[in-house]
Amino acid sequence: MKISNEQLSQVNDRIKALVNAGSFYGKKLEEAGITSVSSVEEFENLPFSEKSDLRDAYPLGLMTAPEEDIVRIHSSSGTTGLPVIIPYTQKDVDDWAIQFSRCYEMAGITKKDRIHITPGYGLWTAGIGFQLGCERLGAMAVPMGPGNTDKQLQMMMDMKTTVLCSTSSYALLLAEEIEKRGIRDKIHLKKGIIGSERWGDAMRERIQSILGIELYDIYGLTEIYGPGIGINCPGETYMHYWDDYIYLEIIDPVTLKPLPDGEWGEIVITTLVKEGAPLIRYRTHDLSRIIPEPCHCDSKFPRIDVIKGRTDDMMKIKGVNVFPSQIEEVLRLFPELSSEYQIHISHLEGKDTMRIYVETDGTRDFAKLAEDVAAKVKSKIGFTPLVKVVEIGVLPRSEKKTKRVIDERYD
Ligand code: ZN
Repeated sequence: MKISNEQLSQVNDRIKALVNAGSFYGKKLEEAGITSVSSVEEFENLPFSEKSDLRDAYPLGLMTAPEEDIVRIHSSSGTTGLPVIIPYTQKDVDDWAIQFSRCYEMAGITKKDRIHITPGYGLWTAGIGFQLGCERLGAMAVPMGPGNTDKQLQMMMDMKTTVLCSTSSYALLLAEEIEKRGIRDKIHLKKGIIGSERWGDAMRERIQSILGIELYDIYGLTEIYGPGIGINCPGETYMHYWDDYIYLEIIDPVTLKPLPDGEWGEIVITTLVKEGAPLIRYRTHDLSRIIPEPCHCDSKFPRIDVIKGRTDDMMKIKGVNVFPSQIEEVLRLFPELSSEYQIHISHLEGKDTMRIYVETDGTRDFAKLAEDVAAKVKSKIGFTPLVKVVEIGVLPRSEKKTKRVIDERYD
């Protein structure tokens, strides 16, 4: 999916604005002596932008339009250090609403739907994005925000809301509450729009089996408008994204070179028409791949795969990029395994090796089970790991994030 001439000319407009505003990226370009790009190759030589650049611009260093045109800011949570502040012009807010209403339409949602919005409102882009898109579409928003499960369920019943917008964990919590209270027949939900977290198939199946609704994954990040820049279409898991607003590349996070369509790597996004804070080649650190085949739904918008995790989780073994989520998918095929596992990568006798430790309930022969798991991993990622089967409870547990990948090559 190479950048088109029209997209190149949009990038050049953004470059001009960034240089004129004297933003960090404008300065990067001036230092590199770049005033415009006229080919794919030139575009692919443009410097990347990083979250740390955005943080360094705190508070308003990203502002690229005149202050009188800025109508709002949003901010991403600063888990480490300063937050990132993104200024929006009215056009940016309108463009975001258009993209978000497209997401609803892609999911088959219409003006007659009533949309129950549980993500939070405020500085971050979640709730307000779901709201903007809903109003743009002409559906009825029920702007709940998070928390107070009793009230959520009461409103869901009384307002007969048909669409639930939430994170996957909150959707699961609400679904389990609905089941526990035996009120499914009073709930009118038909669809769920789920954003902001990576979630596994097991969780999706659980929500679906309790509520019996269609679930959609919405993509987005605060730095690039917010949620709403892409969504899957009915019956598919791949997400369409709006390439009239963003140009999306997949790069190898190690070499930083663009990868061919179909290969897994890091999503890098360029905003094509954003005014308040345009971003060129912004590294999201989200992992996905471009799906080159056209979709059966006939949408002209290109597609990416479900987000597989973050580049920080990626392992490069024997020249192949491997993600923990790929290993998880294989392990899930074996009901006799627990959810715990550990991956050790080491370099022995000139070769990278991967050892996977898994836990079992002991219903099958350990050696045979190890062989079956190794074969399935090979069919998924292309090489055979050493699989060590241990009894349930042997691998360490943690209340915080469990460390599952141990790379001994750099010890
Ligand atoms: Zn489609």
